[in-house]
Amino acid sequence: MQEYDLLIIGAGPIGLACGLEAHRAGLRYVIVEKGSLVNSLYHYPANMTFFSTSERLEIGGVPFVSNNAKPTRAEALEYYRRVAESNHLHLNLYERVTDVKQEEEGFLVTTTKTTYRARHIALATGFYDIPMLMDVEGEESPKVTHYYSEPHPYYRQKVLVVGANNSAVDAALETWRKGAQVTMVIRQGEIGERVKYWVRPDIVNRIQEGSIQAYFHSELRAIRQHEVDIMTPEGLLTLPNDYVIAATGYRPNLDMLRQFGVTVTEDDKCHPFYDPETQETNVPGLYLAGVVCGGLETHVWFIENSRVHAEKIVKDIMGKMGR
Ligand code: FAD
Repeated sequence: MQEYDLLIIGAGPIGLACGLEAHRAGLRYVIVEKGSLVNSLYHYPANMTFFSTSERLEIGGVPFVSNNAKPTRAEALEYYRRVAESNHLHLNLYERVTDVKQEEEGFLVTTTKTTYRARHIALATGFYDIPMLMDVEGEESPKVTHYYSEPHPYYRQKVLVVGANNSAVDAALETWRKGAQVTMVIRQGEIGERVKYWVRPDIVNRIQEGSIQAYFHSELRAIRQHEVDIMTPEGLLTLPNDYVIAATGYRPNLDMLRQFGVTVTEDDKCHPFYDPETQETNVPGLYLAGVVCGGLETHVWFIENSRVHAEKIVKDIMGKMGR
């Protein structure tokens, strides 16, 4: 059986940052990833632009040079691939961690391919795998997506975009520009306050001029093959519809955290327990890294402010190992 000082779950930017730190510290480590390298970023909308500048997405001090003020998804994929390759990171891709059991010294980690022994674990599983469901009739229909990718299929189609944050606004503008007839349904009274500052005037103006129809203080109630019902302040409306893009956000896999023994608060935020000095959870030797740390508050942690988790974790492990 393969034995490691540190097994990192997830090859997102922060899992890779943990790998870089472990590599430099001379630890025996491996990163186990259920999909491709930076799997979440790979599944982001094809033409997406980050809200961070490229230097804020850098990990391990490796420069990220972008041709744009804000880097694109394609540039980020290239950057993280180059970081992994040039540092010869130990990566096992397309292998899901399914169980973690505490042993006398460390952990027994089961995956879809094999079993590992690891003295420490860094869990960096992000929040992009589970969409926040709307819980409306018809949500499971194939015309509904929680993962918008690109505008082409929506040309000359009637598209309903649910939500008012970055993903919703990007999808609404992009599909409208490529010939879709776009309606937005928005619970709040305005476009989300965290929408990228350079995109916000664009969506506000498109709504004001009537190019994109927006229903504020409104909710989607039902989805049928050729129409949707939305509840507006004026009452229930039925609109003709071909596609629904549900940009309602994502949440971390809290069941997996609980299964591995991590305590999660019982309130509506579901914060996992960890010591902010070291990132160690209530399970000794099991650390949390990256955006998973926010629980359901997925707007708290980003690449730019969570990449420091990697240093803290490896420093604590080195201390424990007396190095
Ligand atoms: P992730 O990148 O989500 O990585 C987690 C990895 O764990 C995934 O590859 C996943 O496949 C893997 N995994 C999950 N479960 C298992 C398992 N059981 N076994 C093995 N592997 C597993 N942040 C910024 O700082 N700037 C931005 O501009 C920015 N833009 C964003 C735009 C969008 C559309 C979204 C959704 C988020 C954005 N974020 C941004 C937020 C954040 O940076 C990203 O979510 C980032 O990917 C978080 O990195 P991470 O490594 O913590 O998690």
